[in-house]
Amino acid sequence: MKTEEGRLFSVKMRASREGAHISGAERIVPAAAVPPLAAVLAERALSHSKGRPDFINIKVETAANPLRLKALSVSTREVDTPEEGWRAVRELLAEDGISRIDEIVPLFRETYAMRGAMLLDADTLERLEPDPLRGVRATFMDDAASAAHAFSSVKNHYAEAVVLATKVAHAPGIVGEICMSDDPDYITGYVASKRLGYVRITRLKDAGDPAGGRIFLYRGPRDKVGETIDFIQRRCVLVEDVPPKPPAQGKAGRNPSPVEGLARELEEIRAVGLWRSVRERPAGLKIFAANDYLGLADDPRLKAAAAEAIARHGAGSGAARLISGTLPPHIALERHLAAFKGTEDALVWATGYMANVGTVSALVGKGDAVFSDELNHASIVDGCRLSRADVFVFRHNDMDDLAAKIAAAGPRRRMLAVADAVFSMDGDILDLPRFLETCRAGGAISMIDEAHATGVMGATGRGLCEHFGADHPDILMGTLSKALGSEGGYVCASRIVCDYLRNRSRSFIFSTAHNPGSAAAADAALAILEAHPELPQAVRGKARLFVEALAEHGIQTRTESAIVPVPVGDERRAAEIAAMLEQDGFYVPAIRYPTVPKGAARLRVALSALHRDDDLQALAEAVAKALAAQRRF
Ligand SMILES: *Cc1c(COP(=O)(O)O)cnc(C)c1O
Repeated sequence: MKTEEGRLFSVKMRASREGAHISGAERIVPAAAVPPLAAVLAERALSHSKGRPDFINIKVETAANPLRLKALSVSTREVDTPEEGWRAVRELLAEDGISRIDEIVPLFRETYAMRGAMLLDADTLERLEPDPLRGVRATFMDDAASAAHAFSSVKNHYAEAVVLATKVAHAPGIVGEICMSDDPDYITGYVASKRLGYVRITRLKDAGDPAGGRIFLYRGPRDKVGETIDFIQRRCVLVEDVPPKPPAQGKAGRNPSPVEGLARELEEIRAVGLWRSVRERPAGLKIFAANDYLGLADDPRLKAAAAEAIARHGAGSGAARLISGTLPPHIALERHLAAFKGTEDALVWATGYMANVGTVSALVGKGDAVFSDELNHASIVDGCRLSRADVFVFRHNDMDDLAAKIAAAGPRRRMLAVADAVFSMDGDILDLPRFLETCRAGGAISMIDEAHATGVMGATGRGLCEHFGADHPDILMGTLSKALGSEGGYVCASRIVCDYLRNRSRSFIFSTAHNPGSAAAADAALAILEAHPELPQAVRGKARLFVEALAEHGIQTRTESAIVPVPVGDERRAAEIAAMLEQDGFYVPAIRYPTVPKGAARLRVALSALHRDDDLQALAEAVAKALAAQRRF
């Protein structure tokens, strides 16, 4: 093993979709770190914010005989305008006799389409790359400290730029580098050379300008260009002592407006049909957009319970639960929830979002692993991120993939697998028996989110375990804000898990206790559900009826819960169909990116036990009419 230990490998990841670059990364690490790093890079590629790749290339090569270089020193030139920025570039490079900056600037329009950098003769401006489309790509380099932070999931663009600039500055014949990001919002660029170090220039272009790339300036004989390119592309370099990123200078009044970028992003959002705004719930429309599946939110019994609790205990609970915020309605509700779900204990947060974020982030931490279904609710996703555990996203409802990911990641100090019981956008349900079996076999804590299952699934609305006749997962999480008609989030679990969460869940500890009115209303809802076990079947019956009505109009969809998705695809089209339905008196939301993937917009019809059958028929007809009208354009 001794020989293995000293050997280093370059691990490169590139992800693309339909040939377009999405993300890339390279690290140089010892042999032992290669397999886990490859997994982390694959994970990063799969979950990149720029979209899902259809091609991921992970390449592992020996990084032979690394050359260790000390990082270039870093300094910053504060400028107000791109003109000033380029004047600074001109001054900095003038000392090396590079004088044709004004002719170099327009060349950045061409580097934009290139995968690598442009290699220019510093004096004649002749282009020297063998393949002008590809350019010269600096690879085989890393921060020498990389092994220590190989698993960091956060990309450090600044450190990567310093590493690259250091390597390039040491290539034979290179007298300077100019770099401008092709990110339209990133206006800071740099000039680098062995003599100058790495000089950040705070403004090289106007915000919104997509021009950008790198230009390497070469001076020397033509027959040595190959050596230079070879050094940049193939020579293994480890850069030591990369300095920390200098803080933004932020001199008062220097940048025209720090929020300038926001307005432009908003314009883009509007242009692609993704604009959203809050609006008061429209009166006089038939609502198919609420999660109030049993019609309990407006029930006089819940309203009376809330009013009474508020009259008795106050409009707010006055403090966090562990201080003096725990009131009789909280105790009663937690007992009731545990009894309803058949667990030892239960715990309530102010919202379901807080319950998920506070539970996931408490259960796992750095070095642990969390496995999350790709269609899980945002609050689970945020809990995963906040936990700092390694996050493994498994394919939707694919238990083989979950098993494989657990096997690849483990063993760890702690592993948690989490999934929605009923998936919120399509209303499909988790394969709970196999989920539990997979968690048990892999040694992972199991957690399901019953936000859309409680009060809907199972003969008496007790959720997915009742539906399948399955055992309980370790953690049953849910919300009081959907079928239960109130607000709040909960976890039903063993005493140990609940005690742990009371001691470790930051959103439980550091936030004011659940509103006493909401607690009392949820308690009343549980009592109604217990007295009327037929309610959950009623709402599922409405959903089935609606699916059948759509089928009569030739629209195929399916559901097992109270949610019926009507696929549309294009974002703008979905928004227009929703507007047409509103004209017809129905309020049905168009669900668009980022809630669902781009190009997978849909109508999401949420049923209530109180909907009238003839309204369902009328809505199905209106949906068919709107879809047909849209197709004609
Ligand atoms: C609505 C929802 C939540 C969040 O619950 P709130 O009480 O609205 O904060 C969490 N998970 C899922 C699956 C949800 O649909």
